[in-house]
Amino acid sequence: MTSIDTGEFRDALMEERQRVEHALATLRDEHPGSLDDEVEEVANDNHLAETASATLGREIDYTLGDNAEQVISEIDAALRRIDDGTYGTCTSCGQEIPRGRLEANPWASLCIDCKRRAEAG
Ligand SMILES: [Zn+2]
Repeated sequence: MTSIDTGEFRDALMEERQRVEHALATLRDEHPGSLDDEVEEVANDNHLAETASATLGREIDYTLGDNAEQVISEIDAALRRIDDGTYGTCTSCGQEIPRGRLEANPWASLCIDCKRRAEAG
């Protein structure tokens, strides 16, 4: 058992999920078209600098979109771990995840060691 107050983290997770979902919906409303269409339009105006910035802005938006979906699925997984009583323990090695790490990232599923290992490949 952990000493973590899962109710507190459940609230934080639900709140963050709503926030991310809203951001994702806003992102999709603002950018219903495809990237190719937009770059072509700008390029036809012969403003190369604008083409570059349009492309860059769109790439960042898409990264955020992908990231938001990833975050939502991680939040859902964390909420399931609260339900089944495994929240706050590393899903890889079973060690307790430090409270400070959960406060910074409530949907963290790995301890810092395993996270580093995962990111290293
Ligand atoms: Zn671990």
